[in-house]
Amino acid sequence: MASASVPLLLGAAAVAVLHSILPDHWVPLAVVGRTQRWSLFRVARVSALASAGHVVASVVLAGIIAAIGLQFQRQLETQHRDRRRGLHWLLGRGEVPSQPTISAPPSVGVIMVVAAHPDDIESWCAGTLARSIDAGATVRLLLVTSGDKGSDDPRDSAADVALRREREAMDAGRRLGLAEVAFLRHPDGEVEDTRALRGELVAAIRRWRPAALFTHDPAHPYPPYLTHRDHRVVGRAVLDAAYPLARDRLSFPEHAAEGLAPHAVREVWLFSTDRPTAHVDIGAGFDRKIAARLAHVSQTRDADALRAGWRERAAQIGAEAGLPLAESFAVLHLD
Ligand SMILES: [Zn+2]
Repeated sequence: MASASVPLLLGAAAVAVLHSILPDHWVPLAVVGRTQRWSLFRVARVSALASAGHVVASVVLAGIIAAIGLQFQRQLETQHRDRRRGLHWLLGRGEVPSQPTISAPPSVGVIMVVAAHPDDIESWCAGTLARSIDAGATVRLLLVTSGDKGSDDPRDSAADVALRREREAMDAGRRLGLAEVAFLRHPDGEVEDTRALRGELVAAIRRWRPAALFTHDPAHPYPPYLTHRDHRVVGRAVLDAAYPLARDRLSFPEHAAEGLAPHAVREVWLFSTDRPTAHVDIGAGFDRKIAARLAHVSQTRDADALRAGWRERAAQIGAEAGLPLAESFAVLHLD
């Protein structure tokens, strides 16, 4: 029996006993006894029997109330657990682990990465992708914007910045070992979750047919309150594109004319997440993560400080799972 039920039963017994010895319980019996010409002994005996009966009835009643309370408490706990399961539960998957687990990076087939800005993947998942590539996976990157707001030089136009940053992204991709870097060229800082954007994302999923998809966590982003708007919008649109749009034949049926068949994504790895469920050891990928990040020359003021700061951050994430250097993800299984 739950610990909460024991005080309830003891309390009920105490109330019953106290009530039994109070005058309002004895006086009526004494009056009845006097009317019936009972001896004092008989009055006392009848009163004692009535009191005992009163105690037993109260304890039984308290037991019934405790049992109902216990059932209600179990029901609340079940509902709370189901809410924690979130998407996993809705889609009929297993439980979301309450403690982060150490995971191997995906290593087979095509991995598709969708990020808002040219240097996003280096921040969050390049160490993991380096390990996936070494294990045999083909990694393709789709950038929704070309980071055209990323300059404070008054001589730069947005078009200049975009061109420079696309070149840097291509160089970073080569250093990392990406098979492809593609650009959707939405305006930096102004990405909107439109049907047109979802259509572009669905077309890319149907073209590349990834076994695993990496993108920003839109539901529990890190940092929680000051996440870049583009990160939230892109993450949400990518999840919608992966499930269910890319899978369903009648969503964006115009893709069929381009030879693009429906494709079901099985696994989504959400980076920049505040609710990680998987930590990946990036000891073997850290140097390439840094090399790729330093390819974004226009976004780098002090390479040594960046290298030291990023090592410290990877060590902090690793400490959550007992790893020297790590990246963390919320992993969704959609099959
Ligand atoms: Zn970004």
